[in-house]
Amino acid sequence: MSLPPLVEPAAELTVDEVRRYSRHLIIPDVGMAGQKRLKNAKVLCVGAGGLGSPALLYLAAAGVGTLGIVEFDVVDESNLQRQVIHGQSDVGRSKAESARDSVKEINPYVNVVLHEERLDNSNVMEIFAGYDLIVDGTDNFATRYLVNDAAVLLGKPYVWGSIYRFDGQASVFWAEHGPCYRCLYPEAPPPGMVPSCAEGGVLGVLCASIGSIQVNEAIKLLAGIGEPLLGRLMIYDALEMNYRQVKVRKDPNCAVCGENPTVTELIDYEAFCGVVSEEAQAAAAGSTITSQQLKQWQDDKEDIYLIDVREPGEYEIVNIPGAVLIPKNEFLMGDALEKLPQDRKIVLHCKSGVRSAEVLAVVKAAGFGNAVHLGGGVLGWVNQIEPHKPVY
Ligand SMILES: [Zn+2]
Repeated sequence: MSLPPLVEPAAELTVDEVRRYSRHLIIPDVGMAGQKRLKNAKVLCVGAGGLGSPALLYLAAAGVGTLGIVEFDVVDESNLQRQVIHGQSDVGRSKAESARDSVKEINPYVNVVLHEERLDNSNVMEIFAGYDLIVDGTDNFATRYLVNDAAVLLGKPYVWGSIYRFDGQASVFWAEHGPCYRCLYPEAPPPGMVPSCAEGGVLGVLCASIGSIQVNEAIKLLAGIGEPLLGRLMIYDALEMNYRQVKVRKDPNCAVCGENPTVTELIDYEAFCGVVSEEAQAAAAGSTITSQQLKQWQDDKEDIYLIDVREPGEYEIVNIPGAVLIPKNEFLMGDALEKLPQDRKIVLHCKSGVRSAEVLAVVKAAGFGNAVHLGGGVLGWVNQIEPHKPVY
């Protein structure tokens, strides 16, 4: 199913623009009309991180006239392994500004609009309304559902991508012509079930593979060429090196784009995705300690049993002295509970405090009522107690 172009052509290309885009202009399917449509196009990129980096670079090079960037974060050293729009000298800078500078260096004819704020219910509709197309490069479920619902409510198409370790997925969602993200994934996975890239890692170059699919689809939609990746999910396995496609049908019972939608305005996405489960929140209430408290207990030779619930690879990068590694899954399977000493105070920690809160709920339910977990995890510990150690 081909679709009509999203954008009307600009009046003309300048002589400089003709020179710059000549390799596009001589492709019959793009031609002068297609390039003029790109010039007139307004594309919003949500995030200037793993997916946003290659997406913005190629959208800019392709000659998309207006590029919006939603990003509130600052560049961290650990971003540079994959977020190629930022460089060493950008560490500590605003990601939005760093991305804008790179875009301008590649193509000074692009009008860049920065939205240096966290996308939320209060701003998403107004920001999206100013663009023809959205490229979603977000890395968390709450924002994904927010992007989807706002796009459906505004009737806008968007190109979605996701990455994890060696696996990537991409699709086009546009409720007016096909399925939306909720048709594919009606429910967010239970909190803690799907690790983020920060927890599980991601191969840097995977971002380019998926980000370039997103740009490819964006260009096709803007110019009205080819077969859009609408109603199809592209699944990429970098280890096996294969792409496969799964058909995605519009769900007549979809909560937001179905025949009788229950989501007719924006909802509470943090609650919908249960960012930290209710069990974990309840377990952590009153049972969360600080890094200073843990250090004090260690200095006082308190009889504590410190457990790191992360994965072995994470433990290798950095760990807290005296911590025993028992990954979270061993608690969820039940095996780990037998290993716990009955007579010592259990202290759990992970990277940032989310996984350890989940494990705390399990441990407490198993009868270890005085167990606690470390708020802020090993990241907080390094920050407060051992700043010479690496973080990731
Ligand atoms: Zn839907």
